[in-house]
Amino acid sequence: MPEGLSTRQRAVLAAVCETLLPEIRRDGDPAGFFATGARTAHTAQRVEELIAQLRDPLDLTRLKVLLGALGSPLANFALGGRFAALQQMDDRSREATLRGWAMSGVPQRRAGFQALKRLAHVAYYCWPLDGASHPAWRAAGYPGPLPPPGTAVEPLPALAIDRDTTLECDVVVAGSGAGGGVVAGLLAQAGRSVVVLEKGPNPGSRDMTQVEGDMLGTLYLDGALLMTQSGSLPILAGSCVGGGTVINYTTSFPLPAAVRAEWDARSGLSLFAGPDLEASFGRVNARLGVGTRWTTPGARDAILERGCRALGWHVDVIPRNVTDCREHLECGYCTYGCRHGAKNSTARTYLSDAARCGSRLVARCDVERILVERGRATGVVASVAGPDGVRRTITVRAKVVVAACGAVNTPALLARSRIGGAALGRGLRLHPATAVVGVFPDRVEPWTGGLQTRYSDQLADQTDGYGVKLETAPVHFALPASGFGWESPRQFKEDVSRLGNLSIVGVLLRDRDAGRVAVSRQGRSRVHYELSRFDERHVRAGIRGAAQVLAAAGATELFSLHTPPARARPGAPGWLDRFAADCDARGYRRCRMSYISFHQMGGAALGRDPARSVADETGEVHGVRGLFVADGGAFPTSSGVNPMITIMAIADHVAHAILGAS
Ligand SMILES: Cc1cc2nc3c(=O)[nH]c(=O)nc-3n(C[C@H](O)[C@H](O)[C@H](O)COP(=O)(O)OP(=O)(O)OC[C@H]3O[C@@H](n4cnc5c(N)ncnc54)[C@H](O)[C@@H]3O)c2cc1C
Repeated sequence: MPEGLSTRQRAVLAAVCETLLPEIRRDGDPAGFFATGARTAHTAQRVEELIAQLRDPLDLTRLKVLLGALGSPLANFALGGRFAALQQMDDRSREATLRGWAMSGVPQRRAGFQALKRLAHVAYYCWPLDGASHPAWRAAGYPGPLPPPGTAVEPLPALAIDRDTTLECDVVVAGSGAGGGVVAGLLAQAGRSVVVLEKGPNPGSRDMTQVEGDMLGTLYLDGALLMTQSGSLPILAGSCVGGGTVINYTTSFPLPAAVRAEWDARSGLSLFAGPDLEASFGRVNARLGVGTRWTTPGARDAILERGCRALGWHVDVIPRNVTDCREHLECGYCTYGCRHGAKNSTARTYLSDAARCGSRLVARCDVERILVERGRATGVVASVAGPDGVRRTITVRAKVVVAACGAVNTPALLARSRIGGAALGRGLRLHPATAVVGVFPDRVEPWTGGLQTRYSDQLADQTDGYGVKLETAPVHFALPASGFGWESPRQFKEDVSRLGNLSIVGVLLRDRDAGRVAVSRQGRSRVHYELSRFDERHVRAGIRGAAQVLAAAGATELFSLHTPPARARPGAPGWLDRFAADCDARGYRRCRMSYISFHQMGGAALGRDPARSVADETGEVHGVRGLFVADGGAFPTSSGVNPMITIMAIADHVAHAILGAS
């Protein structure tokens, strides 16, 4: 276990928090938001709690080095001409020092600033400060967590493991998300004995408290603190029973025909454009109830639609995997789980089917390695947190092993098990997403409304099928805390205080060029990824397009997610070119602008050639019989559409292949 912060590092951290979140005197601050700074909010302590949750010791080391540099008079003198430790400087010098990091020409310094800014702002905004509310929430008219519904959705039945245990079964599935859930459900229904091992918890609706900080910490992978190694891209993924399907936005696109053809050509397979996978898509859509019935647009999506129509651009309805989703007031909160059971996650569908058919589920269970004997997978070894918090070892002996830990973790599981050739971890795509923010005269309340109900493909095919999709997303406080650009403490609060009147148009990139998952000596995934020049061009056009849409829908002011944000007031002659030029001047790569990855794909790709792929057409790993991959890792390139349904269709195909072979 790595050590925590030293007294000196703690003092620097407190100085950083109080510099980013000072007590600001402002006329007209009825909620006391500007007046409430990090000191009274105990933000530094909360940041320390977040730091304690960092899973990779290297992340902690990096933070300590960063705090060490900010606390060093010599480093501050060399970098900014001020010979003093940050915590000994006056307020103006502190702010100037942090600004020097934020706008530095050195990417590592910008990344350092962004890491601290993100931690401090998430710590400050994402938990209530005074009982059930927060001055910032009141300033924006954000109600915070809503009262729980009358009827609770129960967690799935799960095994309690209180001693070292060995289980036997036909199929063991590691990971219970989009891919793992489908395989488990189908094989259990076909009469196979199935064990599902899931690293995250097994939440029922009572656990979905809607306190953002707590939900990010419990339902998201690595407490939502996972970043690419250069710090330029946070990676969000679900980590609980049901994986990403519990917290995602329910957007249920089929894989476009052009991408299917591209994947077949690239992988050397005749799978993706063929009738078998088409049948898999059909079965998945039917089981999830995918359709357009529950797609009344909330204010955010109405803005996207209105703007696109005013421009004469493509806009359409998003199919969703929900049932009886009666536009609950809570809809926008579904990114922390749907408490009404309307979202057809794998927990509500395939894993429920599996449970009904007698499959066994173990939550909080980390699969450490796959057992292989004479070229055949024979089970897994995992570590599980017992009811008393003590970790036990669980060994599962199985005829078939399915790796479905998601694109970031499946390569690490295989590598820890000394499985996989040169292609393992290669070809990782992240669909980097950014946004333009629009300020509207009327209230938008971007945390409300159906999660995502409209999209535009106007800019989706800019070069050979690569470009950006325009979509919205529910915005509570975590996204602004993490993603809004920074120019000063006061301006950041001014932007956040208008949250009730903001909407975003998100720019979701279909990235052509790949990163990779490397695996540390301790067996942890480390994601290496940078936006390429090719992909950057499409983001740039996407930002311009998003600004046009917001302006056409009536936004009176816009800003980008750059540090510092590029700003515009639509209407003045030449505003769009000036906005685009300001964005260009700031740049789009390496912590100049905020992105988030919601979609991780590739790294354990299907393909014919073992030198260029990890598994064959059936999902079986090259050279290891009885071991299958069934998650987003299987993609040969990025899908260009939100990937859940494609992952599930591939998992359906893999499940049928397993049934066919046994
Ligand atoms: C906020 C958000 C919104 C999204 N919205 C949409 C959307 O609207 N539409 C869409 O198509 N996609 C959406 N996505 C993406 C989609 O949810 C994912 O692409 C999809 O869930 C990935 O499926 P998967 O099976 O590859 O992995 P996951 O669903 O992530 O499941 C992997 C599971 O494996 C577990 N695991 C990892 N390592 C281990 C281990 N060693 N042992 C045991 N278990 C392990 C994880 O905890 C996790 O539960 C969204 C994602 C996010 C984060």
